[in-house]
Amino acid sequence: MPSTHDWPALPPLHTGIRGRCPRCGEGHLFQGFLKLRPGCEVCGLDYSFADPADGPAFFVICFACVPSVVLALWIEAQFGPPYWVHLLTTLPFMLLTCVPPLRPLKGWLVASQFFFNAEEARFGAAAPPRKTRHDTGAAA
Ligand SMILES: [Zn+2]
Repeated sequence: MPSTHDWPALPPLHTGIRGRCPRCGEGHLFQGFLKLRPGCEVCGLDYSFADPADGPAFFVICFACVPSVVLALWIEAQFGPPYWVHLLTTLPFMLLTCVPPLRPLKGWLVASQFFFNAEEARFGAAAPPRKTRHDTGAAA
């Protein structure tokens, strides 16, 4: 069934980081801080396809935690302070470098999943025809 509306291909970086719908770029992606909405309130895209799993946490662990560890090690090696100093310096720094990137990273991963039609691999039986990003999601 042909779609009733041709949606432009929006770059995942532009829509996902801002927490916008990957199809129309106007609707909201999130209901809370990290919880996805059931669908887009503007174009009606069903977000059930979205499953970034622990991808955002992986990126935060790999890239955002490194500066925190470097800071903690540097403070420890340079000053040898009591542990409460780390509670006042390293812990807030770690929270600031790890928590804020989660939402834009999750948005980017969900938008990329939509943009590239990514889904779980199926082995064995032939896979059903895939929907393109331009489909409206309406039943055929
Ligand atoms: Zn939308």
